Amino acid sequence: MLESLKQEAYEANLALPKHGLINLTFGNASAIDRAKGIFAIKPSGVAYVDLKPADMVLIDLEGKQVEGSLRPSSDTPTHRRLFLAFPEIGGVVHTHSSHATAFAQAGREIPIFGTTHADYFAGNVPVTRKMTPAEIGGGAYEWETGNVIVELFTQRAFDPSDYPAVLVNRHAPFTWGKNVAKAVEVAVATECIAHMALMSLQLEPKLPTIEAELLNKHFKRKHGPGAYYGQPDSGKSIS
Ligand SMILES: [Zn+2]
Repeated sequence: MLESLKQEAYEANLALPKHGLINLTFGNASAIDRAKGIFAIKPSGVAYVDLKPADMVLIDLEGKQVEGSLRPSSDTPTHRRLFLAFPEIGGVVHTHSSHATAFAQAGREIPIFGTTHADYFAGNVPVTRKMTPAEIGGGAYEWETGNVIVELFTQRAFDPSDYPAVLVNRHAPFTWGKNVAKAVEVAVATECIAHMALMSLQLEPKLPTIEAELLNKHFKRKHGPGAYYGQPDSGKSIS
């Protein structure tokens, strides 16, 4: 069932190593069919070269495996938590891409220094609080990982369309979009802006973040009611 959804998830997973975002098997992508409340996700620990569309595992929003003989990615509960909390998203991507992960490990937001960043985000890429020993060791680590993300977005009243990625403290980025292809694009953009931010900080350790006018110009020309970037219906908005 849901062959096109599995194909979509499969292609997104293959795109991650192709874009240099994945080493070994550290990452996963999922795509959801909102009408059915089922998402397709990569199986656990399968090398990307061996992956086939039919290997994608189907999971419902209660966490039940509805199709697939392989075990789903161990990060599946985090994806499910995000799909439940952010009803507007259609895909989730998790990578350990080096530069974004460097910020996550340092517990630092990726500061918004330029227009590349402002094309995708309304501000710094946020970072979660550290997870507690109880959250880490209580038997629901991956679900709790989702919870710290949701907690951050709730506390700061962030719209997931304005902030389509987050860094989990000491861990790595999660990204999302209106579909999984968009979530892959945001994962590429997040790695790219993390790399550039690190270089900007090397050149100018006290560099302030981008001026509000320039941020608003770039963010709003791609997002929201006044967006004019790209072609009509060409996916000019993240969400
Ligand atoms: Zn991870």
